[in-house]
Amino acid sequence: MLYGYVFVFLLLLCCFVNIIDASAGDADPLYRGCIRQCQETGCVGQKCFPHCTFSSDGEIVGRPWYMQEPLYLQWKKWDCQSDCRYHCMLDREKEKELLNLDPVKYHGKWPFKRIFGMQEPASVAFSALNLAMHFHGWVSFFIILYYKLPLKDEKKAYYEYASLWHIYALLSLNSWFWSAVFHSRDVDLTEKLDYSSAVILLGYSLILAILRSFNVRDEATRVMVSAPLSAFAITHVMYINFYKLDYGWNMKVCVVMAVAQLAIWAVWAGVSRHPSRWKLWLVVFAGGLAMLLEIYDFPPYEGLFDAHAIWHASTIPLTYIWWSFIRDDAHFRTTKILKKAR
Ligand SMILES: [Zn+2]
Repeated sequence: MLYGYVFVFLLLLCCFVNIIDASAGDADPLYRGCIRQCQETGCVGQKCFPHCTFSSDGEIVGRPWYMQEPLYLQWKKWDCQSDCRYHCMLDREKEKELLNLDPVKYHGKWPFKRIFGMQEPASVAFSALNLAMHFHGWVSFFIILYYKLPLKDEKKAYYEYASLWHIYALLSLNSWFWSAVFHSRDVDLTEKLDYSSAVILLGYSLILAILRSFNVRDEATRVMVSAPLSAFAITHVMYINFYKLDYGWNMKVCVVMAVAQLAIWAVWAGVSRHPSRWKLWLVVFAGGLAMLLEIYDFPPYEGLFDAHAIWHASTIPLTYIWWSFIRDDAHFRTTKILKKAR
């Protein structure tokens, strides 16, 4: 049974590693022609964009000097590029719909409808809900730990993994915040912030999975276990930020870290007698299934709900169960420690 799951994860891993991220949309000569024209004239068909009025040396025409700041200029360029891409894509997709052709990806993304200027509104909403769910989970963990369970004399919790989970909560909040920002506006900066936060969260949760499942309570051993993994995660973050954002390689790194921790939790749930191990099983199993959505990537329904958005939606209930497991674990460990002390 256990090996069956491990096998499924390894199989999933192989599928992930073989994904090739090619976008047919932006290779289309008609789309490229539209973009070129838009950047020259600032218009797509009848629609014209004010951000696209640059002079020949790249300065914005007819703006006061304080608006010629490099950062402002950069924003305008991003706005122009994103407007051109969006409207050229809409036009191409409309033409293709008339010819009964399936939607294709542009710059690695499906053609989404924008709402309030957000590029992927469903993913933004689900990222925000994940963030809220982590916040709720963290607060309820805090309440259980410091108000419901007995405390040591110096008002510290008995639960040995408390501080590790606090850091986990902060990294999760950070990661979902940047995910929401990235899905609302995809530019180089927001993309790097989202990817980097995700790598840091994945690396840290892998360390946490090892420390908790092997019951590492000694500070020196904790440092010894986490040092090589943190070094790897930090090196990878520096690599994607300052050297090259290689999507394929980044995907492999993330999937290996994610599958490794799911496997560790799964094996631990199998061998330990933890009273809430069924919650672990559920999160690992459903989490593995949810990962399938990233493999069988389908175009957005109604221009909103694609596989990635549904994936973000599926982690909302899993986050609730996950924090409920963490609360149970705090309860379980505290009672065990107090029983031993008696
Ligand atoms: Zn996402």
